[in-house]
Amino acid sequence: MTLMSNPRVKMALHGCTLTSLAVKTSQQTCILFFMKSNSTEPEPSPGITTIDGLNLTPAFTEALPGNPDSGQRHPPQDHIMWSAVMPVVPSAPKLIAWSKDMEARLGLKIGAAPEATARLLTGHDLASGTTPYAMRYGGHQFGNWAGQLGDGRAIALGEMHDQTGQHWTLQLKGAGATPYSRQGDGFAVLRSSVREYLCSEAMHHLGIPTTRSLSLCLTGDNVDRDVFYDGNVQAEQGAILCRTAHSFVRFGNFEIHAAHHEHDALKTLADHVITKDFPHLGKPSLDVYQQWFQEVLQRTAELMAHWQRVGFVHAVMNTDNMSILGQTIDYGPYGWLEEYDPSWTPNFIDRQRRRYCYGNQPQIGLWNLYRLANAVLPLFDNNTKPLEEILGSYDAFYDDLWHQTVAAKLGITTATASDKALFDQLWEILQLTPTDYTIFFRALAQADSTDTPDSLLNTITPSFYQPDTLTDETKNAFSHWLGRWAFRVSDTGTDERRTLMNKTNPKYVLRNYIALQAIDDAEQGDYSTIDKLLEILQSPYEEQPAHQQYAGLRPDWATRKPGCTMLTCSS
Ligand code: AMP
Ligand code: MG
Repeated sequence: MTLMSNPRVKMALHGCTLTSLAVKTSQQTCILFFMKSNSTEPEPSPGITTIDGLNLTPAFTEALPGNPDSGQRHPPQDHIMWSAVMPVVPSAPKLIAWSKDMEARLGLKIGAAPEATARLLTGHDLASGTTPYAMRYGGHQFGNWAGQLGDGRAIALGEMHDQTGQHWTLQLKGAGATPYSRQGDGFAVLRSSVREYLCSEAMHHLGIPTTRSLSLCLTGDNVDRDVFYDGNVQAEQGAILCRTAHSFVRFGNFEIHAAHHEHDALKTLADHVITKDFPHLGKPSLDVYQQWFQEVLQRTAELMAHWQRVGFVHAVMNTDNMSILGQTIDYGPYGWLEEYDPSWTPNFIDRQRRRYCYGNQPQIGLWNLYRLANAVLPLFDNNTKPLEEILGSYDAFYDDLWHQTVAAKLGITTATASDKALFDQLWEILQLTPTDYTIFFRALAQADSTDTPDSLLNTITPSFYQPDTLTDETKNAFSHWLGRWAFRVSDTGTDERRTLMNKTNPKYVLRNYIALQAIDDAEQGDYSTIDKLLEILQSPYEEQPAHQQYAGLRPDWATRKPGCTMLTCSS
């Protein structure tokens, strides 16, 4: 029995349903191109090393069924949730960056032991308590069921507790092939690892749920990649990100069990996730499953509202990239809105259908929740009603959240339903001329509600990419809207309004061209830009006058340079 066919969810764009998109995008999965690498073959780990504070336990593998003897490749196997796998031994591991924030949170002493850290957090050496494993999961990719996927280039080491007692799994991304690598090599290049390292930390400091980065190491081995899938293969430096999360379970972990009719495993996994990561819900029962699904739905909607607030486009919202905790996970060809354009996506392979463009994200979140609902239906004795009711609450929940969010972006302290017209009009005028989404709201915060229309327009002009080409009609449309806005906020004290706007609208986001500067420098052996950017991105809502150059309009050169506007999944 299947719960609800595809939801006929409304799309912000294209005027079509996701069902039809799903069909049209059937060929659009991330194609993986891999070549041989010069890494050594997997060997037993040469020794046990440790760094102060690193106390790992095999919590996931002890609690859940898996294959402990799988080796690096094994045929697909039903009913299991993980496969043991040893990281490939890197030839010259080198620590190039780490998050001081995560280091402190986990009580580690990385700075005191960079070499041991490099060996441990690349899988060169194994810390005691380490049982490396890859997780089994499936997923819907670009609207179609893709079957079994799994951790193809991620190997978890184990779990540890921070000083507040919270558990964290440490996972190496790019440590070599696993039983789920399919035709991939399991490695990752420096370029994509720098992007994930920086962006997940930036996201955390923006106050948005996300997996975290602990460390970034070079492996000392080259990895061959065909970046634009045009036959031009290049050797790139291999790198390993050690990332952390309370759980790396995805919607796809449930989907694979459902697809293979492994209902016992499905229940075991759900009970484990609820007990471990939703303990406030109590002992799993039919009622608790319902509350759990409701919470997953709300967390997902909240995540979508956060992404829309800061202009983040994930760009590969497949169900295998949806965290059951409602966190941002798997940073690939993501991007940040520059010109406000709901149809924008940085993902090269999605440039025609734009399934995962900015404007579609909230509805894709719901589409993915439908896939999760279908997967967990057996927990509800195949009774679709409770899940349908919860899914039916998504739109109202999200719309309300988004309404409150936009109000805060505009400095409106108490939103009312009648504000909707003002908000809707804003999204229209922002498309009249290329307008930078991030800069617009920060500039608007500076405006004074008693200013004249001309002065209001001048205040937001720094957010225009082509200020000299504005027509009178466009100027009038902006002036008219600005006048309405100024009137609406005139009751609120300027300081109070500015504070609200400046803590809702970031000044510093990791625009792709900025990330590329850190990548270019790192590829030349200079890792200081990574640290510098991380420091700036740790206070994204602060003014930071010394770093103003990272808060400006995207420069012209960046529109032409590969990797600045369009990215591929090659990583
Ligand atoms: P992604 O789109 O990056 O989330 O990846 C989708 C699937 O492809 C997941 O199962 C990944 O583990 C797998 N994958 C991505 N890159 C590689 C790689 N270099 N080697 C093996 N598997 C990979
Ligand atoms: Mg993924």
